[in-house]
Amino acid sequence: MSDVRDVIIIGGGPAGYTAALYAARANLKPLVIEGFQWGGQLMITSEVENYPGYPEGVMGPAMMTQFREQAERFGTEFVTDDVTRVDLSERPFGVFVGEEEYRSETVIVATGATARQIGLESERALHGRGVTYCATCDGAFYRDREVVVVGGGDSAMEEALFLTKFASKVTIVHRREDFRASQIMVDRAKAHEKIEILTPYVVDEVLGVESGKLSGVRLSHVETGEQLDYTTDGLFVAIGHDPTTKLFVDQLDHDDAGYLLTRGKTTETNVPGVFAAGDVQDHVYRQAVTAAGSGCAAALDAERFLADAHGHLEAALTAPREQTRPA
Ligand code: NAP
Repeated sequence: MSDVRDVIIIGGGPAGYTAALYAARANLKPLVIEGFQWGGQLMITSEVENYPGYPEGVMGPAMMTQFREQAERFGTEFVTDDVTRVDLSERPFGVFVGEEEYRSETVIVATGATARQIGLESERALHGRGVTYCATCDGAFYRDREVVVVGGGDSAMEEALFLTKFASKVTIVHRREDFRASQIMVDRAKAHEKIEILTPYVVDEVLGVESGKLSGVRLSHVETGEQLDYTTDGLFVAIGHDPTTKLFVDQLDHDDAGYLLTRGKTTETNVPGVFAAGDVQDHVYRQAVTAAGSGCAAALDAERFLADAHGHLEAALTAPREQTRPA
């Protein structure tokens, strides 16, 4: 059983690397299968100003490189590829990258979530140049500027209200007259003097690709098809997130949206020995610092689980033979 590891961490974002750091320092020799595009959502963020310890701010990719280096310093190993299948039906668990199987006594799932995109080529081209998916991260860059928020859920309302702290005007663009958001959030947004609401409109095009900087959005009226070019300095897309849980939904308990369920304040899933950390199990806070915190918790939970399991094993091996035989 020498090929069986103590901990495999699936996912290379703030949660995964923090879990690796803690597991490595606990001498558990973790393997992080970090994904072909390692680093998580911060790799597509520009400057991070709200991670404690970086008073001058830090670029997202630079910070993730440092997270990774810190985990590596204590002996973490990495596979820079995507997990294609997991078998959590019995311990040791199986984690597959194509034909290659890795086996482990515990697994920490830290595969994160991705912000939904509208799906336009121009949106992709101007991502980080006026198009953003996170008001908490980027709102402060839009002081005294005009911004558009797309979406009609609680996130869109919350982000629009948050952005009024900085922006001179916030326009919510939603594709229906009715909102999915809770009534209280809609009422708050409607009552705010800086917020204007445009419905039912969709974004047809993001403008400014030629100059490399967002200059506006082309909106189209859902019923009449009439188009309207709307000048703005920033586009905040807030149309929801999708957890990266396709590999796990048949084997781990999850909510209707696919987020993994964990027990109480722990990171334990319904399968003993499998833990979940970061955005894959948190649709509320979704911050790098909260993801890192839950990665730490997952490593501590895994360490405790292994200590308990090894304790039982040792007890079984040292107990008088009669007691280890079935009655
Ligand atoms: P959500 O509730 O799924 O809402 C997504 C919104 O984006 C919907 O209005 C949807 O329109 C719109 N949308 C989806 N795809 C679109 C597209 N391609 N183009 C244009 N619009 C599109 O997501 P969420 O707002 O991120 O909220 C997720 C969960 O977190 C919810 O349960 C929410 O209540 C919760 N949450 C709570 C709070 C809070 O309580 N403070 C804050 C944030 C989030 P349709 O309505 O037409 O489908």
